[in-house]
Amino acid sequence: MAAPRASARSAAPAAGAGTPFDALRLPSPEVLMARARDPRQARLRTLLERLAGNPPQVLLLEGGDAVSRLAMGLWWTAWHQCTGPEPAPGPAPSAGSLPGLLPGLLQDRQHPPPQQRTAPAERPCLACASCRQVFTGVHHSLHLLDGASDLIRIDDVREVMQKLSEKPRQGQLRCILLNEAHNCKAETANTLLKSLEDPRPGNCFLLLAPQRERLLPTLVSRSFTLSLAWPDPHQPPSHFKEDTTLQQAVETWTARLDSLVADGRGWFGAALAKEALDKPTAQALVLELQRRLALALLGEPHGCLGRLDAESLQRLDTVLAEAHASLEYNVTPALVLDWVATRIYLAAKRPQAMATS
Ligand SMILES: [Zn+2]
Repeated sequence: MAAPRASARSAAPAAGAGTPFDALRLPSPEVLMARARDPRQARLRTLLERLAGNPPQVLLLEGGDAVSRLAMGLWWTAWHQCTGPEPAPGPAPSAGSLPGLLPGLLQDRQHPPPQQRTAPAERPCLACASCRQVFTGVHHSLHLLDGASDLIRIDDVREVMQKLSEKPRQGQLRCILLNEAHNCKAETANTLLKSLEDPRPGNCFLLLAPQRERLLPTLVSRSFTLSLAWPDPHQPPSHFKEDTTLQQAVETWTARLDSLVADGRGWFGAALAKEALDKPTAQALVLELQRRLALALLGEPHGCLGRLDAESLQRLDTVLAEAHASLEYNVTPALVLDWVATRIYLAAKRPQAMATS
């Protein structure tokens, strides 16, 4: 069964330097920026800032969920491209009212040097034109190869490699981001490896993957690896405290899913009543499944996920991220959750289903 949004993406799997993320049906800039600001990733942001002065040639970000990994990859890219908030219109304020700004800024407010408008502590601002270009996928120093629904193709990698022979603009760091890099075929990964044999100053490859074990060991050995924080799976979602009706609806649907996986009943008849599964409920259900997945990966499976093997659990991470993005793009909630339920049902029946269906 194909992902509900896979066809739109398959026409253009390679992006960057001109292809906006909405053409690839990746999450909106607002969703990605919110994830990039997630307080749970504060430790990762601190580690990335320490690395920023001397960027590694290959940086591997693992853990978390797919949307958060992409958000943090973009946060790193934006850190290097951020030009700082635009000066506010109106009369120039006195130096005393802007204690953090460089004196030079006040002398040249019309044409401030790009790399000096933002103090490092505020970087990236996620508000300037450069930050927005990064988070919409159109910044000239960002190249994205997206493996989230399609395999990353060798031709895409070769095309990006050719561009690397050109010098990055204005000494800026050029970031080549491989989203869901575990979807890279061995041949493509080897092409990538060859290109990494020659140091290329000014370029940084970012590999985003659920776990380092899912990449070629030779690729991992060349990477500086950092891990995202998982959400605390033992805490009930905070939105349930404010909305017990939503909590009850999610419990009903997770019970139906458990019943489907146990004996094939209880899901499809209910989900066919389209209005029965609205977008907020579907989004909360996907979040709950992500929480259960985190618990299962910690060796504490609940309900139907206890029937999935380790590999299927790892792939469920990508399935749930796809479902999350599909709901963001207003795909019919019942259709998205039918797809998720079918993938889990088949994976429980035959372990390879998550990989091949
Ligand atoms: Zn910025």
